[in-house]
Amino acid sequence: MLNNDKIREVRQMEAFLRLEGKAREDFYQAKYDYYRRFNLGVLFASALMFFSLLVPDWQVYEQFTWRLLVIRSMVVIPLAVVVLVYRQTSNYRIMSVVSLLMVHAMIWGNIWAGSYGADQSYVNEGFLIMSFILLLASFSAPPLYAMVAQLGLIGNILLADQLYHYSNLDVILSFNIQVIILLALVDLIVTGFYYDHYITQRKLEFALFHDPLTQVFNRRQLHKIMGAGHDLSFMSPDIAIVIMDVDHFKLVNDNYGHDEGDRILQFVADCIRHSLRGPDLVIRWGGEEFVAILFDCQRDQAGLVAERIRSSVEKSVNGVCKITISLGVAIYEGGDCFETIKKADQALFVAKRNGRNQVVSYEDLDRDALNLDGYNRHVDA
Ligand code: GH3
Ligand code: MG
Ligand code: MG
Repeated sequence: MLNNDKIREVRQMEAFLRLEGKAREDFYQAKYDYYRRFNLGVLFASALMFFSLLVPDWQVYEQFTWRLLVIRSMVVIPLAVVVLVYRQTSNYRIMSVVSLLMVHAMIWGNIWAGSYGADQSYVNEGFLIMSFILLLASFSAPPLYAMVAQLGLIGNILLADQLYHYSNLDVILSFNIQVIILLALVDLIVTGFYYDHYITQRKLEFALFHDPLTQVFNRRQLHKIMGAGHDLSFMSPDIAIVIMDVDHFKLVNDNYGHDEGDRILQFVADCIRHSLRGPDLVIRWGGEEFVAILFDCQRDQAGLVAERIRSSVEKSVNGVCKITISLGVAIYEGGDCFETIKKADQALFVAKRNGRNQVVSYEDLDRDALNLDGYNRHVDA
């Protein structure tokens, strides 16, 4: 017998590893967000270091020159560009490119500074330092960007050689190629560590807002989206709330056991989910009760949607026993959404009393004649 759960787990893991499409975008955006401040700190620190290279410049050339001061001070221009863009966007693609370009601007500043004077024996050290700065600036970027930026360093060395004809080009290249290979590996390792962190965080987030048995949301999700005073009106102009309860569920547990009862709950949750549209929320409200929040759903549609869910549960074969559900519907009119849930719950109470396996809308009830004898539920947060 195939273990479907294990297979699903492996498939999920494969999908994560491939990180396709939107999953990859989310991952790299999360990686950027995580290292965002680190990235900015690295760029500020690098700019400071770049400026302070004036001291070794001074030692190498054995004199202070205004020209070197100007070259070293120019680092504020790429840094200012980074800060300006940083204030405008947190898109990982844009920020990765701008950050790595800032390091490349520093590389050219260094090439320029190194070309001043006859002593070129320190040129190699300059490139090595820049390679390490590229690594630090790459923590927030996808490894491919980091790789391209590091390879770009080699391109810059070759280009600079055309201008300044380095006497030790072979040494510079062999050193830097080795360092670039090492740093590319370090970058992959850093991304791997972040990946573990990311997956753990996503699993925790999922567990915090989902019901482990049925995988639909739990009540925390509703609290997460609600505004002050349990308000939901900012979400959509027309909201309908449906509360659902499995009929005679105690009998299912008694006759087929708790495990089969659990399977029925998963089945009901699937039926509800498949009967709704993408943005609608399904929440496991309690034991065998679910609440659905239907956005952009007007009064006449709400009853139809509820009827679609009821009929789908009744008609579908679940492999355990035939089951039905009762549903109460109410229209949200602003204010505390728990008031609407309570109205839907009162309609559900009437549906149960009228014989179960049916939909009752609170708005269709004759409020004056509404007899709630026996209704003693307290619906709140
Ligand atoms: P009614 O038609 O009036 O709703 O009848 P009912 O038997 O469904 O009545 P009630 O709502 O009181 O019963 C709920 C039952 O759901 C009782 C409880 O044992 C069972 N239940 C609650 N949570 C779970 C769960 O996670 N798994 C299983 N298998 N059963 C659960
Ligand atoms: Mg119940
Ligand atoms: Mg029940």
